[in-house]
Amino acid sequence: MPASLQIDRAREILKRYFGHDTFRPLQEEIISESLEGRDVFALLPTGGGKSLCYQLPAILEEGLTVVISPLIALMKDQVDGLNANGIPATFLNSSLNKTEARKRYAKLFAGEYTILYVAPERLMLSGFLDDLKQWKVSRFAVDEAHCISEWGHDFRPEYRQLSNLRRLFPDLPFMALTATATDRVRTDILTQLRLKEPRTFVASFNRPNLNYQIETKQAVFQQILKFVSSKPYESGIIYCYSRKATESLADRLRQNGIEALPYHAGMTPLKRAENQEAFIRDEIKVICATIAFGMGIDKPNARYVIHQDLPKNIEGYYQETGRAGRDGLPSDCILYFSPGDVAKQLQFIADKNNHKERDVATQQLRQMVHYSESSECRRKVLLGYFSEEWTEGNCGNCDNCRNPKQTFDGTLPAQKFMSCIFRVNQASGFSVGINHIVDVLLGSKNEKVLKWRHDRLSTYDIGQDYRRMEWQAFGRELIRNGYIEQNAENHSVLELTRKGKAALRDRTPIQLTQPSVAKAASQRHQPSSTGGIECNEELFAILRTLRKELAAEQGVPPYIVFSDVTLREMARDFPIDEGQLSDISGVGIAKLEKYGDTFIEAIKEYLDTHPEAGIDELEPSFR
Ligand code: ADP
Ligand code: ZN
Repeated sequence: MPASLQIDRAREILKRYFGHDTFRPLQEEIISESLEGRDVFALLPTGGGKSLCYQLPAILEEGLTVVISPLIALMKDQVDGLNANGIPATFLNSSLNKTEARKRYAKLFAGEYTILYVAPERLMLSGFLDDLKQWKVSRFAVDEAHCISEWGHDFRPEYRQLSNLRRLFPDLPFMALTATATDRVRTDILTQLRLKEPRTFVASFNRPNLNYQIETKQAVFQQILKFVSSKPYESGIIYCYSRKATESLADRLRQNGIEALPYHAGMTPLKRAENQEAFIRDEIKVICATIAFGMGIDKPNARYVIHQDLPKNIEGYYQETGRAGRDGLPSDCILYFSPGDVAKQLQFIADKNNHKERDVATQQLRQMVHYSESSECRRKVLLGYFSEEWTEGNCGNCDNCRNPKQTFDGTLPAQKFMSCIFRVNQASGFSVGINHIVDVLLGSKNEKVLKWRHDRLSTYDIGQDYRRMEWQAFGRELIRNGYIEQNAENHSVLELTRKGKAALRDRTPIQLTQPSVAKAASQRHQPSSTGGIECNEELFAILRTLRKELAAEQGVPPYIVFSDVTLREMARDFPIDEGQLSDISGVGIAKLEKYGDTFIEAIKEYLDTHPEAGIDELEPSFR
């Protein structure tokens, strides 16, 4: 079939089975290359729509598409989702009993499935590869392909078996998909899977619907409570540093009437699975978790990810925040930052025995602190970390772009700060930490200052024009900008760098961020505004309840029934017949048949009791 016809059919299937009108970036290209029989390597961020890249060709072409996935827990949900869209799919893994497995094998031999999910272990079972040969496989898709690399963060030895697969099926198209791959992992994937002249697609890692925000951490529980309470209908993830913190935060939230549960690696697997399940099924609002939570969580409508404590590195922060808004709707990522957290983590790092580990951890923490304290666009810094350039200027969806921080000519305070470091060292022959420098600048009479006679320095008590928090912020900014070095090996004492000494000597002009300490307390959260779907919130709430009931009846997570996007569009457009309903994104033929009447009924009932709803929502300008 000519390529153009193929892609026309692909679009038709997109609408008919998945209910979507347009492809996400690169999906069309990836699908079309694979349909031409070429190997494809696709690097798409979380929420980029990787599954569709192999699911759609599977429907379009004869034969069976075999998907290798490491996440057994996810297979069932994926298959439920496909079945709900009328696509014959199944999975094989160790969770099935003998009878069930036998039934599925029989259907596989009879060619009744379009898609089969398997765990990589399965490929090692004797006889499985021979069976595969008889199932008219048309394509292999390797999901989470980074698991094949020892250089990745999630190496699975079983993935190494996949090179055999290529040997046995030299002519079938392979797809490798992942959301995380450094250059090294990328090369590994290509060679280990023996991909043949693969077409490589790398999507931007920008997540336009995510609003990044850093707030000063003060009375953090109140800050979190206020935010969570402001989103009564939404759910989200709160990451905490320790297991204990997840438990106590969940407890306190519950005491304040918010359904929350903890999740961490110290809980029994059963309890963990239960809490995760409750979150995915919208039975609770908030999950308070350590970083153990997330891999393989496929909840598309987490509306916010909060970091109560400072993450250890940017990569982790990006992955964790990435779990918000997979469905593309506006979602918030809030990090509560405090210099105290930095000091705490530096202390942990200093306790590590291994030199190399210590260096890496310090370096990573420094990047994280830089990100948090920077006055640049958050998006720009994040993408820069992944070697992607952000050229669009103001992103409009991070705190720094919405409220640019003011800078001022900070040459004088910078000079005072740096010369204080210099004087202390000159007089005492040792270096001190940031707090001591600030003590000297503010003319403190504390024990150390007096004992070391730092009250006699020329820089003693010359800092009355700023407050303690402000001096500390200046100090950290000078560190960030390379004028001062903080020695992690030696109690975080401050030393002037070569750049700092030169600036001190030459009186180089230095810009500093205008102190915003006073403002921080009253800083209000700003709702995100990018790409949202404004709708009748009351009807949306009704439809959500309906969705939850249907999902519970069928024993599937609510998002398998309909996504938030779909429900919001319904509550915006008020579809009251099948034609109108099928125009809604996410409503394919199968779901139209299965749920159409129920939802149309609910919308009609709402319109009957609220006759004004359909009109004034849509045409406010006529009133
Ligand atoms: P990934 O695996 O890359 O994180 P998924 O395959 O889980 O992403 O897709 C994320 C979400 O995007 C899902 O809710 C899916 O239904 C939706 N999606 C995928 N492709 C499209 C599309 N072309 N149009 C609208 N929504 C889409
Ligand atoms: Zn920005």
